[in-house]
Amino acid sequence: MKRWNGWGDETVDFPLPAGARLFLEQRLGKSTPLPDASFDDVIALVPRSRFPDHPLIIKTPRDRILHARGQSLPDWLALRSGNLGVFPDGVAYPESPLQVRTLLTYVSDQKGIVIPYGGGTSVVGHINPQDADRPILTIDMGRMNRLLDIDQESNIATFGAGASGPDVESQLRAHGYTLGHYPQSFEFSTLGGWIATRSSGQQSLGYGRIEHLFAGGIMETPSGPLKIHDFPASAAGPDLREMVLGSEGRLGILTEVKMRASRLPPEESFRVFFSPHWDSGCRAVKEMVQSGIPLSMLRLSNASETETQLALAGHGRAIRLLEKWLAFRGAGTERCMAVMGITGTRRLHRTALKEAARIFRKEEAVNGGNLPGRKWVQNRFRAPYLRNSLWEQGYCVDTLETAINWDRVSPLMAAVESALGAAIIAQGEKVLVFSHLSHLYSQGSSIYTTYLFRAADTYAGTLSTWRRLKKAASETIVENGGTITHHHGVGTDHARYLVPEKGQLGIDAIKALCRQLDPVGMMNPGKLVV
Ligand SMILES: Cc1cc2nc3c(=O)[nH]c(=O)nc-3n(C[C@H](O)[C@H](O)[C@H](O)COP(=O)(O)OP(=O)(O)OC[C@H]3O[C@@H](n4cnc5c(N)ncnc54)[C@H](O)[C@@H]3O)c2cc1C
Repeated sequence: MKRWNGWGDETVDFPLPAGARLFLEQRLGKSTPLPDASFDDVIALVPRSRFPDHPLIIKTPRDRILHARGQSLPDWLALRSGNLGVFPDGVAYPESPLQVRTLLTYVSDQKGIVIPYGGGTSVVGHINPQDADRPILTIDMGRMNRLLDIDQESNIATFGAGASGPDVESQLRAHGYTLGHYPQSFEFSTLGGWIATRSSGQQSLGYGRIEHLFAGGIMETPSGPLKIHDFPASAAGPDLREMVLGSEGRLGILTEVKMRASRLPPEESFRVFFSPHWDSGCRAVKEMVQSGIPLSMLRLSNASETETQLALAGHGRAIRLLEKWLAFRGAGTERCMAVMGITGTRRLHRTALKEAARIFRKEEAVNGGNLPGRKWVQNRFRAPYLRNSLWEQGYCVDTLETAINWDRVSPLMAAVESALGAAIIAQGEKVLVFSHLSHLYSQGSSIYTTYLFRAADTYAGTLSTWRRLKKAASETIVENGGTITHHHGVGTDHARYLVPEKGQLGIDAIKALCRQLDPVGMMNPGKLVV
């Protein structure tokens, strides 16, 4: 079962390895965890539902609590403190597009609000109900999770939009296919959520981002069903897919989606290289994407992230030996770890690996061998479980991401890190901050920054520390010309930063689109554009 106030399946733990606590204490100071509220404490706070009884609407406190918050750090603080704020008045689990339509009509008649819900993994407040004098229905798409058709001639798979990562891959793999979309939230996030937030998977370099994988489908809107054809390409005016991508539940609910699947690759491998310092690593990965080496994944951690990852990896003795060996080979304390994935035929493997290794060698990087790459792929979806273990030790962790052209990548990364580092110095607190480039393009790259800090003495104090950090980083991104989000989306937390990015005319055009498909403003108000 899914944890109600943390990440992941209750039966899975990723304890902090020995030595990690000392590492954190040295960097941030000792910390004490805040007390957690119990599920029963929270049940007592759930108010009466404002919806009359309806056969498709569940009003139990349990369902309403489980759909009240996502996975952002403020969401965690709300869940752990028991102070959740607003709850949906009901939750529905439709099993067909007809039921979705019935629910939209019913909520419209009730002058209510609808929040489409996929896996609830949003990290920017997308699915949180906001205070309103209208009843709020969360529509959980999890039961519409089946592979409905696979066209093996065109490689198009039609799914219910509530299919989660494992639902998608297990059903496709049974036919010899894969979607190849692996966000770190893969275990729980869904096709509908990926499309509505413009998600990017770890292997988007090879398989493409979700906007490439989404071919078409059906969105039920308050104004009626919007059908988007799955043409391979079309010059028939603006693309309706682009309207739906990133719509964050504001326009309607995706019920069925057509996805561009790929045949399962004959081989896949992940390799790790260590560059002696950031500049050489950056030059190497840029050359690889710009010269079109057919990699399915490429990421480069900066020195601080490399150090932290090795410290949190466990296996202290083996890691110390590895560090000694790397230093001997020229990758000392400034070393930066790069992970690359190759997916395809044996021949493609040979060519891609040869070319990539040549570029790394030119930049004096050390080949880390196969084992670290295998470890990386084994743990790729386990890392978020560390958030639970860090919380239990009194440490908070959050991430943010942006993207910018190559000429500004390194300066923006440094500026964001230094803004975070400085944001809470005045209150005598330190921040452990590190970054990687995880989605690389010929034109530029995303920058993904993680920061850790100590929980304050109270929940309110911890939230205000987070607000200070988030504001400092977001303002730095905007001032330096980066996008406010490369793949997490806008939700509530980024909404105010969207205006400088899109311009007032752009924001007004998005609002006009919302009014066209949702004339009464019932779809997820308060998110994306406000
Ligand atoms: C630990 C962790 C790791 C993450 N890693 C990544 C990552 O690697 N890459 C990445 O892109 N993101 C990542 N995220 C962010 C998050 O997983 C994505 O935003 C994801 O796309 C959300 O999908 P979901 O199904 O959980 O949607 P939800 O969180 O349920 O909803 C997100 C938004 O989509 C809308 N929505 C959901 N389903 C539908 C539908 N059927 N029709 C219309 N609108 C809908 C909702 O209304 C909401 O506005 C991560 C999050 C966490 C917590």
